[in-house]
Order: sequence, then structure tokens, then C-alpha cells
Amino acid sequence: MKFNHVALIGLGLIASSIGLALKKRFNDIKITGYSRTKATRDEARKVGFCEVFDDYEGCLKHADLIILCVPVGAMSETIKRVIPFLSVSAVVSDVGSVKESVILDVEKNLPKNIFFVPAHPLAGTENSGPSSGFATLFENRWCILTPSGTVPDKIIKKVRFFWENLGSNVVEMDAKHHDLVLSVTSHAPHLIAFTMVGVADEFSKVTKSEVINYSAAGFRDFTRLAASDPVMWRDVFLNNKDAALEILGRFTEELFILQKAIRKEDGEYLLNYFERTRKIRRSIIDAGQDTAEVNFGRKH
Ligand code: NAP
Repeated sequence: MKFNHVALIGLGLIASSIGLALKKRFNDIKITGYSRTKATRDEARKVGFCEVFDDYEGCLKHADLIILCVPVGAMSETIKRVIPFLSVSAVVSDVGSVKESVILDVEKNLPKNIFFVPAHPLAGTENSGPSSGFATLFENRWCILTPSGTVPDKIIKKVRFFWENLGSNVVEMDAKHHDLVLSVTSHAPHLIAFTMVGVADEFSKVTKSEVINYSAAGFRDFTRLAASDPVMWRDVFLNNKDAALEILGRFTEELFILQKAIRKEDGEYLLNYFERTRKIRRSIIDAGQDTAEVNFGRKH
């Protein structure tokens, strides 16, 4: 059930975390890697989570699992560069935050005898690059697989087993449904954070540095999300446009309702609304997806 040689294409946060997690848990899996720039390859060599190659060919030779760890918008170009060097028994996977467009981009290029098992680990931080990874990133986090109907069960099981071995809870989902769910739980919240920090930036021109100096917990939490990788998020919105616009439409409607409640001084409406949202935070903690510690357990 185990893959023997994992090749990581793109050597940022997610790839380095996969490499470190594999090294921590196994000593018999070969891990190779490639990234397009020399700077990233050199940094990855220093971190030491895989054997880094300066070309696709060396990295992919005999690999039986290839994981595309590049931004969603780069998948199409990357798979074209990978294909000439794939072994006949290779399985291709990815970690992209959007699934439907990635499946289209990858499967339309892939030879019929090679299978693609798309994956999205719901784990990450606002940091990027090879030095930002850590071995425990995927522990007790969900990893969603969205294979199309043509992928044999035994190959899906092998990829499932791979992520379970990194500590993830694995679930299978239809790609379109994944994109809608993630637009609610991840994409729209990030866009709202980008907007709020943008508003504060405009405002700070009036208040000088007050917004920074007196930033309260709410704003600080937004800034963490808004510090996420710009290329990754540009690609997420361009590749999950319909779902993102659907959720933002609903968000705007709710915002107007709350705006009206404030104007009309409808305290009961606001109270009921905030009680409902508070319960959602509690259910996330009950599901083991976050800590109940004050201020997310931050020391200061
Ligand atoms: P990252 O740390 O920014 O690393 C990105 C990697 O992709 C780098 O090796 C970079 O290469 C390469 N890359 C960037 N643009 C490229 C292009 N046009 N062509 C080829 N390679 C390119 O990113 P990450 O956070 O690991 O994210 C990787 C994937 O995981 C993305 O698809 C993202 O949606 C998904 N993901 C991210 C998170 C998260 O929280 N960060 C969580 C789950 C899934 P160079 O440095 O050599 O340019």
C-alpha cells in the first residue's frame, strides 16, 4: 500500500511539510524535489526535507507518487513539464486549494494509463517557502480527496493511506462540492480579511500609525489571514470564481441585514445573530479543529 518514491514538484510550505512529515515517520521512502528557481532549490537543500534536483528528469526518475505543490494557476503548465518523465506506474496527485479547475487542467494533459488523485490538505499557515514547513502540519487535520470516477479504488486507497500516514483524517468529496464548501470556510473569509486590512490601510493614512499601534485582537486575526501568499490567493479566486461570487453575494446580503439592524437599533436581532455565530465557534472546538484556549493559545 505504500509509495516507495515521492517526488515533490514545487518546494514551498506544503511540500516541505510533506517532506518533513515523511522523514519523521518513515526511513524507507525516497523523497525527491524540484522547484523552478535556484533560490528556492538552494533553500530547500538547506532545510533538507528531500533530495533536490535541478531538473524535472532527475527528480521524477522512478517516482511512483508525484505531488504537484505549486499554485493552482501553475498546475496546467507544471503537469505538461512533468509528463515526459513519468514512470508507467506513477500516480499523480496535488495539494491545490481549488479542485475542479485543477482536475480539468491536469486530466486533459495526462496520458490515459496515468491516474490523478487530487488532494487538498486543510492545513497551512500564512507563511510560504521551503523554510516555513513543519512535520506536524497535517496531524489531525482533514485532507479531502476529489478523484474522478475513472480512478481505480486501489489507487485512491493508496493515496488515502499516504495522507493517513501523515496524521490526516481523509475524506472523499465531489470536486464541485469541495470548491463550494471551501469558498465558505476558507476563500470568502480570506477575501473579507484582505478587504478589512485594505480598509484599515486606507484609514491609517488619516490616523497615522494608530491602526498598527492599537491593533486589537480582531484586527490582528484579520492581518494574519491577509498576510497569506498573494500568488496562491490570486489563483484561488481566479480558479474558483463561481463559488466565490456565490458566497460573497450571500455575505453582502447578510451584511446589509446587519447594517439595517444597527441603524434600526434592533438589539434583539443582533443578539440572536451573535448567539448563533458563537455556537459555531464552539462546534469547531468540539470537532477538535481548534483550541478552546483564550486567544487561540497564543502566549502574548
Ligand atoms: P509556497 O510556499 O508559496 O510555494 C509555492 C511553490 O510553487 C514554490 O516552490 C514556487 O517555486 C512554486 N511556483 C510558484 N509559481 C509557480 C509557477 N508559475 N510555476 C511553477 N512553480 C511555481 O506555496 P504553498 O503554500 O506550499 O502552496 C502550494 C499549493 O498548496 C498551492 O496550490 C496552494 O493552493 C495549496 N495549499 C496551500 C495551503 C496554505 O495554507 N499555504 C494550504 C493547503 C493547500 P519558486 O519558489 O521556485 O518560484
